[in-house]
Amino acid sequence: MGDVDVPNSRVWRCLCILTALVVAGCERSAPTGPSADRPSVLLITLDTTRADHLSCYGYPQQTSANLDRLAQRGTLFTAAIAQAAVTPVSHASILTGLNPYNHGLRVMHGTTENRLRDSCTTLAETLGAAGYQTAAFVSAFPVTARFGLDQGFETFDAEFIDDAPEQIVSATGAVNTGRNQRRADETTDRALAWLAQARRPFFLWLHYFDPHDPLVLPPREYIQQHNAVPQPRDQSEALRAIYDVEIRYMDLHIGRILDRLALNGKLEEVVTVVVADHGEGLGDHDWWTHGILYQEQIRVPLLIQAPGKPGGRRVDNLVRTIDIMPTICDLVGLPATVVPRLDGQSLAPLLSGSAPDAARRAYSDSVNMLVYRTPAKTQDVKNDMLFAVVDGPWKYIHHLLRSDESELYNLQDDPAEQKNLYATHPEQVARLLADLREREFAPREQPGTGSMSPEDIARLKALGYIRQDE
Ligand SMILES: [Zn+2]
Repeated sequence: MGDVDVPNSRVWRCLCILTALVVAGCERSAPTGPSADRPSVLLITLDTTRADHLSCYGYPQQTSANLDRLAQRGTLFTAAIAQAAVTPVSHASILTGLNPYNHGLRVMHGTTENRLRDSCTTLAETLGAAGYQTAAFVSAFPVTARFGLDQGFETFDAEFIDDAPEQIVSATGAVNTGRNQRRADETTDRALAWLAQARRPFFLWLHYFDPHDPLVLPPREYIQQHNAVPQPRDQSEALRAIYDVEIRYMDLHIGRILDRLALNGKLEEVVTVVVADHGEGLGDHDWWTHGILYQEQIRVPLLIQAPGKPGGRRVDNLVRTIDIMPTICDLVGLPATVVPRLDGQSLAPLLSGSAPDAARRAYSDSVNMLVYRTPAKTQDVKNDMLFAVVDGPWKYIHHLLRSDESELYNLQDDPAEQKNLYATHPEQVARLLADLREREFAPREQPGTGSMSPEDIARLKALGYIRQDE
């Protein structure tokens, strides 16, 4: 991966950032004073949260009262696309502004490309170099240091991970799921304690995992109180109902963070971004979890509130989660030159509606070597080596292993992606496939048998990423 020059390149990058910060005062009308004058930044990532299951996105049940309030104070994006539907891959794009083929974290599991490259510059590194106090409080193993996502954070809280093997798999062979994730209340408690002593400006990343699975649930009394389907007809209905309760419980604790900032009179002064890393199948397209590229998995909620920007806006432009990092840098007044080679573009012009915005294309992929390396008879290519590009109404999903099963949809006419136009619109297929090929999207390395420790594999099994029988 060409990382031999990392120490030198990091020193050079720091020098560039410092130089750019000095120069910035002459170039920008945005905040340019000492770092203490810059707004603090709160980034909240909602794991596994479908946009259409939040009230502010039209879900008929009340699942997101606190996020709804945030949407009223800021801008809600109706067409935000995540760059992957796999947790660490998608988070790496959010935290670097790079597509997966450029940040190098392609897979959950494999001999290579399972870790964010040290040579990438993260949002935490960029803001830290600008004088921000940086902290992350995460809620599950797939976003921890194992995947390089702690890059740049002074404080990185993932203390629920217990490295003792006996804490991961018990003497009876049962997997201790509680060791690999934690609930929204615990993550929030720890973040609030940190906020009480944080100096300004701060960059706080909060990651919530509750909707990911029903292995760790909200308190029983909370479920009883808020389960809209107490007597489900079948297991699917029960799981969908629990999914909604988990979103609601996560939202409750996000509300505690927003209330704390509001109590200090600072909420309006904080750049606040809420986004999901991906959605969830919930049975759509015959898929329950995530990891593939239909809209219910890669169209994610995105809310942005920033000082001086109007509230209550809805923006329908196609945007991407790689746009978050340049947007935050823009909103706090850092010049784009401090962050080299970003794939994303700032969304700041869209927050006020005052400037035209360039049309974007969105890329997303599913490089799932967990499946790729399973025996052919159990291999499910529906979950592997998928590469998508969205351009206006057109969405193409390229199946690398079986290209004749590739898919083309017109999202305007067919938002549920039910009518595959691959065979009837070869000109659109050729145009979008050419776009993919220009990106050099395919992984450079062939999958191997895995380099993870038995403990790491046990954790991934516990969270459902690897089949128990593998
Ligand atoms: Zn995730």
